[in-house]
Amino acid sequence: MSAPNTDKNDLESEYEALLSFMYLSPVGIVRSDKSGFVDMMNPLAAQLLMPLVRGGSIENIFDSLASVAPELRNLVASFEAERGPVCENHRVFVTPAKDDAVVLACSIIKVNADVLMMVLTDISRQVAAERRARQTESWLAGIYTGVNDFAFFTLDAQGCIDSWNPSVERLTGFGEVEVIGHMLSRFYANDEIVLHRLPEHIALTRDDGWHVEEFWCETKAGRRYWGQVLISVLREEDGEISGYSVVLRDITERKVHSDNLARLLTTDHLTGVTNRAHFFEIAESEVARAERHARALSLVMLDADHFKRINDTAGHQAGDEVLRRIAGEAKALLRRSDIVARLGGEEFVLLLPSTSASEAMVVAERLRVAVEQALIETAVGQLKATISLGVASLGDENQTLQDLLAAADHALYDAKQAGRNCVRCAIAEPEDVSLSVSEEGNTVPT
Ligand code: GH3
Ligand code: MG
Ligand code: MG
Repeated sequence: MSAPNTDKNDLESEYEALLSFMYLSPVGIVRSDKSGFVDMMNPLAAQLLMPLVRGGSIENIFDSLASVAPELRNLVASFEAERGPVCENHRVFVTPAKDDAVVLACSIIKVNADVLMMVLTDISRQVAAERRARQTESWLAGIYTGVNDFAFFTLDAQGCIDSWNPSVERLTGFGEVEVIGHMLSRFYANDEIVLHRLPEHIALTRDDGWHVEEFWCETKAGRRYWGQVLISVLREEDGEISGYSVVLRDITERKVHSDNLARLLTTDHLTGVTNRAHFFEIAESEVARAERHARALSLVMLDADHFKRINDTAGHQAGDEVLRRIAGEAKALLRRSDIVARLGGEEFVLLLPSTSASEAMVVAERLRVAVEQALIETAVGQLKATISLGVASLGDENQTLQDLLAAADHALYDAKQAGRNCVRCAIAEPEDVSLSVSEEGNTVPT
């Protein structure tokens, strides 16, 4: 503004022009000395900086900006040239609020040794647009092939749904007002609502940046589907978590497929009961659990009697029918927590948690009677069959799965020796049951 060849009037009119330019300017303009003491500021600058001074006046621009941009003072102090741009479009977050954050772009020009001009532009909308672009990006990251249907939405920092998108209604049937402000558990099936679950998801997402979880969901109309959520963190520029983006997908089809695969791997193809490999997998942990909680556990081993004869006279397929029926009778008789497995050939095993030896004897005897009384339909007519059973329980003599299997096998051998179609126990006389021997030689608790 120093013009050596102009007179005082020219200078004054130039100054007026500058003032009116500043006044009408679409950007905020602040003029200060090199320490930040303001001698001129346009109305827009005052308006943009208002949230920082809360009604007070701005004397020193660096003091006013100290809480949100302390680096500005240092930038100016370390700028050594006599004049030039100190910084360009430096971002200043005036308010950190998530949706209506006020963000300013700040440029400082050093005009001479003691005059600074600061230009402030409101870029809040641009920053909001950028944030939306980032959200879209993390949403898209959640989609990959094999998707039947999916829903996008965001959660606020407290885990409440704060955005909605038509995809939510497409997948879940819920409209905007039925969803906004609710927790993610809005979409869970009733039996899946566990209170600790949601905070856990959020905590894991916060720790790792993202988290994947699967559970049963239910649409508004009551259709159950297996849902997978991918939750990822949304961050502010300063690293603070502003919320979460969520992609909820219906992966029922994949779940059915993998369940089928799991079933194929764990069940016996002929009888549908647990197969040998899976039995050894789960029986070990049942033994460990019973020991840990000092709970009873019994094992019954059973074998079809004279099965070779059945095969030889009625044919292999009729033999298969007999095996299916034995397995079916066992499943019908047992509790859900019990395990029925086919160890191989015509030999099965029952694993009975929380069941003492005497209780297991009762179960074994019931099964023996059920099989004995069954009329088994086969292609060659009705057949009858019997089984022999050996019982063993966890205790001093039998401490491992191998002990249990060996003891039950031994008891089964005793049953065969005693004439078949009967139950024998590895312990000669269980304490809490008085035993009598029936006419056919079966040991029956009375
Ligand atoms: P015991 O009363 O002493 O048990 O006599 P058993 O004839 O039942 O015993 P053995 O072990 O001599 O014969 C078992 C027969 O079971 C021989 C085998 O061919 C038959 N078997 C094994 N697996 C299957 C199967 O999956 N289906 C059919 N139908 N038969 C099978
Ligand atoms: Mg047999
Ligand atoms: Mg056998």
